[in-house]
Amino acid sequence: MPDKFLRRKYLQTSPAGLLSEAVGTRASAVLAPWDATGESVQVPLLDLKAQYREIREAVLPALTEVLESQQFIMGPEVGRLETAVARLCHARHGIGCASGTDALLLPLKALELRPDDEVISPAFTFFATAGTVANTGGRPVFVDIDPATFNIDPDAVAAALTPRTRALIAVHLFGQMAPLERLLPVCEAHGIPLIEDAAQAIGARRRIGGARRMAGEMGQVGTFSFFPTKNLGGYGDGGMIVTSDDTLAERLRRLRQHGGARQYFHDEVGTNSRLDSLQAAVLLAKLPFLAEWTLARQRNARRYDEGLAGLAGVATPVTDSANDHIFHQYTIRAERRAELQAFLREREIGTAIYYPLALHLQPCFRDLGYVPGSLPVAERAMTEALSLPIFPELGAERQDWVIESIRAFYG
Ligand SMILES: *Cc1c(COP(=O)(O)O)cnc(C)c1O
Repeated sequence: MPDKFLRRKYLQTSPAGLLSEAVGTRASAVLAPWDATGESVQVPLLDLKAQYREIREAVLPALTEVLESQQFIMGPEVGRLETAVARLCHARHGIGCASGTDALLLPLKALELRPDDEVISPAFTFFATAGTVANTGGRPVFVDIDPATFNIDPDAVAAALTPRTRALIAVHLFGQMAPLERLLPVCEAHGIPLIEDAAQAIGARRRIGGARRMAGEMGQVGTFSFFPTKNLGGYGDGGMIVTSDDTLAERLRRLRQHGGARQYFHDEVGTNSRLDSLQAAVLLAKLPFLAEWTLARQRNARRYDEGLAGLAGVATPVTDSANDHIFHQYTIRAERRAELQAFLREREIGTAIYYPLALHLQPCFRDLGYVPGSLPVAERAMTEALSLPIFPELGAERQDWVIESIRAFYG
């Protein structure tokens, strides 16, 4: 197996790659999340070009149609995508917006936070989850996570409530849902809304009280990102809020268009955060493939689970038995993580660390007073978590090379 891949490498390496090899510098196998072209390495973390080759016949006519119409802002594609995503999530409304970050920002803006108002967020998540709280005038309160699933710990949420708590953000991290049946009663008892940050979990489900509930269905709002590397990614930034609250939906629609239902008349101060018609067209063309891509990710996850089972030094991800995990990421816990990552990089296998610094320790949140040791489970995760290639087009052969390489490292 290794020989074959090394041979392919020399056959396929670009002139620039050969040059960098000749001068002894290796191209980094760790792709930045915005560099998912899949060109620089044997097994990239993600290969969006492979996906594009598969769907270009569906995407190009959809783009052409928008170009012919020249209706780039709030064209009919936006409404169609809103309806489709709301239906997928069992919600009454979809509200397209400019990014997954804005999908959090707009409902937080609607809460009209005052400076001492607190919003609870897990400490182990992407920055936007809490950055948006600070950007809407509130104060993030960070809580620890469940060591098995990396998701927010409901006991820690209950302990963090104060009279100033105005909302809870639960993140469905890496593609499996947080235990909403435990979080919702806490929110209800305290009279605060639950915001589901479902940026990594479109189409994920959880069995709750005998029913299958979709990510985004049960919170006051669910928020999604169409960042290109997400499971349903656009060709640029984009996001969506889903809600079944009619009044809130109307307000969020206003807030994304400068706070007015009619142009040039402003009921409150909103912003410009619309979803482009071009992005909506791409996403509508991609949506029919999502279920199949999710199945491929789940199949890849099972192959890793089996291939890495029983290997000392590695813990494969734990799926809560109530969850249908969509594997936005396949994130292991690895002993000697930095060495493993370097070893895999040598073999041109892309990996990524989500996330290297928990949010309560970020320099921008220094004033909140957290110190190392305050949220130990999140801090352990940030030193152990390593995400492996799991994208649908990965293929068994390349995946076995990843598995073999990890076994070789620990063996
Ligand atoms: C990607 C992501 C976001 C932000 O989405 P953007 O579209 O990049 O603004 C928010 N929360 C989580 C958990 C994410 O993974």
